[in-house]
Amino acid sequence: MRYSGFRVIKEALTGHKGWQPAWRDPEPQPHYDIVVVGGGGHGLATAYYLARKFSQHRVAVIEKGWIGGGNVGRNTTIIRSNYLLDGNEPFYEFSLKLWEGLEQDFNFNAMISQRGILNLIHSDAQRDAFIRRGNAMLLNGADAELLSTAQIKARYPFLNVDDARFPIKGGLAQHRGGTVRHDAVAWGYARGADSRGVDIIQNCEVTGFRINDGKCLGVETTRGFIGAGKVGCAVAGSSGRLMALAGMRLPIESHVLQAFVSEGLKPILPGVVTFGAGHFYVSQSDKGGLVFGGDIDGYNSYSQRGNLPVVEDVCEGGMAIFPMIGRARLLRMWGGIMDMSMDGSPIIDRTHIDGLYFNGGWCYGGFKATPASGYCFAHLLTHDTPHPVAGAYRFDRFEKGLMIDEKGVGAQPNLH
Ligand SMILES: Cc1cc2nc3c(=O)[nH]c(=O)nc-3n(C[C@H](O)[C@H](O)[C@H](O)COP(=O)(O)OP(=O)(O)OC[C@H]3O[C@@H](n4cnc5c(N)ncnc54)[C@H](O)[C@@H]3O)c2cc1C
Repeated sequence: MRYSGFRVIKEALTGHKGWQPAWRDPEPQPHYDIVVVGGGGHGLATAYYLARKFSQHRVAVIEKGWIGGGNVGRNTTIIRSNYLLDGNEPFYEFSLKLWEGLEQDFNFNAMISQRGILNLIHSDAQRDAFIRRGNAMLLNGADAELLSTAQIKARYPFLNVDDARFPIKGGLAQHRGGTVRHDAVAWGYARGADSRGVDIIQNCEVTGFRINDGKCLGVETTRGFIGAGKVGCAVAGSSGRLMALAGMRLPIESHVLQAFVSEGLKPILPGVVTFGAGHFYVSQSDKGGLVFGGDIDGYNSYSQRGNLPVVEDVCEGGMAIFPMIGRARLLRMWGGIMDMSMDGSPIIDRTHIDGLYFNGGWCYGGFKATPASGYCFAHLLTHDTPHPVAGAYRFDRFEKGLMIDEKGVGAQPNLH
């Protein structure tokens, strides 16, 4: 069933009796060509592109809880492609281009809003770094604009430009960046994949891999064994635990990251703004709430809620650039489990086990990557070769010293 304005009018006039469930609730089949573990954004996007672009229809997504219950429904919804390094920028720009046509492609309203993102600059050295980043973006076909303090003052009059502890000296803007309603992304991909024959199996936890003579034959689950020609794992914060079931130890640590939403306010914030002298970022949702966040809690955890020191740190960051935020009441907050890799960049690769593939290490930036991650993982699962924009996201980069360390902080997952 296609969604459209006409459909809404027709259903309104006929008592809304024609709507159908957005996806089926199938029983697991004994065998699939490809099993994708994890019904988050990346797993569902992988299944969607497998069916939509790579003509793979005997595909299942196995999700231990409900789709959208993980990070895809917990993030702060920001999309952008403002990366510096060659290994990253083409991938994230590919992703942003996929976002731009996504709602038409999967016929679902994901409220994609290219309201722009502004990274504030607070020192001369930071300006040099951001000019370099902006040039790298332009060279890779992305958009970037360096804004002066006067331009920022005109566009964002509420920012504390004049007497701030960290004076605002300009900003790097990407006008095509913005926000997307996060859980609608899971639902849109799920519906699109289901309509092309993919089985989405919820409440089914993968508890092991059946591996014989170095080949993965399928997954053991709480609903029995499911055979597979290939198994692709995309479980984000649970990556370490899942791959340990196949005897693998990953260059990834799990950390908790928190998000916050204020009470609804009248429109005040036109786009996404990030603080450059601490870790704080904010946007305003279409319902009016200020959606903001900051640093990870800083120690290993599989918990989906965080602790007070980071709440204080995030609120201090907000107050430093945006003093009026102190008048807004906090409505809710939550946490998600981040798969923090050693260099801050992801992995989309085959494993040493034949038929077993891995997608993870997204740190706290994997939401914006969802379309490209799904597309590139589907490409890898189909062709056994990496997609050109994801060619750097290999396991062996850690062995060969080919890190993609955007922040330049070294093997410190908690600092990326
Ligand atoms: C607070 C917060 C803010 C963020 N903000 C942003 C942002 O603004 N922009 C951005 O780009 N990124 C952001 N991120 C990061 C982004 O959300 C993640 O990188 C991305 O969503 C991870 O991929 P996913 O959607 O596939 O993960 P998930 O939605 O977590 O999917 C993984 C799924 O695997 C399932 N699973 C786990 N183990 C098993 C098993 N054994 N068997 C079966 N299923 C299993 C889980 O139940 C889960 O549903 C944020 C994250 C958080 C927590």
